[in-house]
Amino acid sequence: ATLPYDEQNIFAKILRGDIPATRVYEDEWAIAIRDIAPQAPTHILVIPRGAYVSWDDFSTRGSEAEIAGFVRAVGAVARAEGLVEPGYRLLANIGAHGGQEVPHLHVHLFGGAPLGPMLA
Ligand code: 5GP
Repeated sequence: ATLPYDEQNIFAKILRGDIPATRVYEDEWAIAIRDIAPQAPTHILVIPRGAYVSWDDFSTRGSEAEIAGFVRAVGAVARAEGLVEPGYRLLANIGAHGGQEVPHLHVHLFGGAPLGPMLA
């Protein structure tokens, strides 16, 4: 069961410009910001503009255009940050067992150093 979308979540506020963030990318479908507590030399969050709680919410309710736009935006951020050739990691936390803290879908992008087999 997906929670109703909370318009006051921190990423909703960042998307509206109500609170600041370091934006490294934006297009019609998504923005990308630096994580406030980076867990790798490069740690970026790619956030779709649409009001979706989670991957589950987005993948069921998102339009084909939004889904395609978001997937392409994630790739564009990785390319723009120079992460493609050395390699990088994508991660999405979904729900309580996934450790999701902010209830607006986001993908973590980690890179800038060898990351080892998995994050904790
Ligand atoms: P989650 O567990 O929901 O996937 O991770 C949320 C991420 O958002 C965490 O890595 C956390 O450091 C980051 N974060 C939380 N609040 C803010 C904020 O106000 N600004 C930025 N840039 N990142 C945040």
